[in-house]
Amino acid sequence: MTAKILDGKKVAQKVFDSLRKEISSRDPKPRLAIIRVGDNPASKIYTSLKKKRSEEIGINTEIYSFQENINEKDLLSRIKEKEAISEGIIVQLPLPRNLDEKKILNAVDPQKDVDGFTAVNLGKLLQGEEKLVPATPKGIIRLLEEYNLSLEGKRVVIVNRSVIVGKPLVALLLNRGATVTICHSQTKNVAEHTRNADVLISAVGKSKFITSEMVKEGAVVIDVGISKEEGRIVGDVDFEEVLNKASYITPVPGGVGPMTVAMLLENVMLAQSFYNKFKKVKK
Ligand code: NAP
Repeated sequence: MTAKILDGKKVAQKVFDSLRKEISSRDPKPRLAIIRVGDNPASKIYTSLKKKRSEEIGINTEIYSFQENINEKDLLSRIKEKEAISEGIIVQLPLPRNLDEKKILNAVDPQKDVDGFTAVNLGKLLQGEEKLVPATPKGIIRLLEEYNLSLEGKRVVIVNRSVIVGKPLVALLLNRGATVTICHSQTKNVAEHTRNADVLISAVGKSKFITSEMVKEGAVVIDVGISKEEGRIVGDVDFEEVLNKASYITPVPGGVGPMTVAMLLENVMLAQSFYNKFKKVKK
């Protein structure tokens, strides 16, 4: 068996095209504020990519950079200032250690929280309300839906328990009728769990973490992990080996990554729609 490729790049392009069309008919255009603190090189790359992709589809985007040593009070007031002139706001993670990440994320207006990381939006998701949902989990679900891969009654195993990936993903999967297991660094014998998965989702960040012995014949394998091997970007899955065992598989790059960006931009558009509705109600 050779697995079919779940082409995140192609599906993301479809999303970008439809967002571009929708935004071209909007006046004013949505505005996105990206907050970046410090000099983390990866954060610089990610924020520039988000700006580039969002501007390509007509979102007005500004990156606001602050010094590593900015104090919490000043940062919070700058966030509120930028939030007032935008429909969507992103606080790029990770933040420097001197700042309380949770406190800062929760200071974002939930209606403008396009990352979906505030306690309000995560809580709503747990209650079954999918409004501004974190982009990576949302992108995984959208990709599966595009290929008509139903989750109902499926046994799904996730290797990751972060707030960015694993935890919101559990809620999305439960909402769709899957039976979910989460593995993490304290799980004993991860392979024992992954071998039972109809759908296996790995977000560890270690190259070749998922070997073909850990995968059930015919499973759907979603590789979220990103790491570097000999200068190349690779995922968690031993792609060449697992390709012959899975029924569907995401490549890295070109799988979950582009879907994440597409879902983030969809959230910006949704945030503007919510904001416009809210304004109408207030009138
Ligand atoms: P993270 O918080 O470091 O998550 C890594 C997870 O892997 C943790 O839950 C950790 O368990 C678990 N883990 C580590 N070693 C393990 C082991 N030996 N056995 C089982 N589980 C193990 O990072 P993250 O922010 O969620 O990101 C995870 C990966 O996904 C990274 O490579 C990141 O670059 C990638 N990512 C990709 C996208 C995309 O768009 N493609 C988006 C987000 C993240 P503990 O919780 O016990 O430490």
